[in-house]
Amino acid sequence: MNFLLTGNSMGHYTLSVANKRIAAKLKREGLEYDKYFQVDYDFPDLARTLGWNMKIGRERCQHSGTDGTITCPDCHRPAADFIGAAQAWLDRHDGCVFRNKGQDYFDY
Ligand SMILES: [Zn+2]
Repeated sequence: MNFLLTGNSMGHYTLSVANKRIAAKLKREGLEYDKYFQVDYDFPDLARTLGWNMKIGRERCQHSGTDGTITCPDCHRPAADFIGAAQAWLDRHDGCVFRNKGQDYFDY
């Protein structure tokens, strides 16, 4: 399934089923067809799910010891940096449709 990412003026994001016909069907069935993200600690996971590689600039660390919500144990970059970078990534992809990514946020 494809999902559409949209940001709003408050710096929050919505991930929604991109196909309107499928979204309408899910809505009729009482199933969730969009998900709202307003907690900044959720942004790294959302961005990673959609394809962000956690890289900030041209650094070499893979940051494999963090999910972006804690300090990287390898390079000691703080969570705030990951959250900020995730937010910038999400802003750059505002309005993008992601093919077969984002499914994990939904139960079906
Ligand atoms: Zn690191």
